Amino acid sequence: MQTARWPRAYGLEPKEGNAALAHDGRDSYGQSMRRWLWDLLGRWRDARLHSQDLAALRARFRASSRGARASAGEAREALRLRRLRREILATLGEVQACRSCARGHPLPHGRWEGGHCCGAVTLDIFCDDEVAALQLGGARPRDLRAPRGGRANSGCAFRGPRGCSLSAACRPNLCVRFLCQELRAELRSRGDFGRLVKLITELRRTFGRFQALRAARLEARADEEMEAALRASLEPAP
Ligand code: SF4
Repeated sequence: MQTARWPRAYGLEPKEGNAALAHDGRDSYGQSMRRWLWDLLGRWRDARLHSQDLAALRARFRASSRGARASAGEAREALRLRRLRREILATLGEVQACRSCARGHPLPHGRWEGGHCCGAVTLDIFCDDEVAALQLGGARPRDLRAPRGGRANSGCAFRGPRGCSLSAACRPNLCVRFLCQELRAELRSRGDFGRLVKLITELRRTFGRFQALRAARLEARADEEMEAALRASLEPAP
């Protein structure tokens, strides 16, 4: 069987579980070509989806800043969240687990290096509560920058070959508090696990308080609007 090597020059290493591979780990020229084209199409599609996601996310940030004013309590919790995210990321430092755990997984998670957990959809990660907390904590649409210089990557639009392209100010709380088994093991061996669990517990609680305050405010506003609409409908026509 002829073994085509040139697609590998593009970084298309055989992936575990790839059905197109022969038993001996080598593939025919036709199989390699199909895989290469498939991969190229995937990258093109990912790049297109990411630019659409980025535009939609920036619009979500702008809409959030135009909405009704948040309470002083929400603003206080949002600033506390920002401080906690910064502290958690500083404590995490350079971790190895987040650089390679996606390797070998099927798409959308397993393209090139990077964390497996970053293979999710951008707009699902940046839900309304996350956007509200980030925006109140000082993040602006222009701060949401996609990774530079890398090839389009699967999953979240900010997932680059060298990790997340966002600073602590813009990174969702969900991303900062998630510790997979591999990362836990690394942190335990470094002796940082206990300290991180403490910080993450505080972040979780703070985010919970932020969500509760925001939900109560939005509910009160919805009640007021409904009452006003009811009153208007009961007023006699001039
Ligand atoms: S925002 Fe960053 S950490 Fe969160 S999923 Fe996207 S790439 Fe990963």
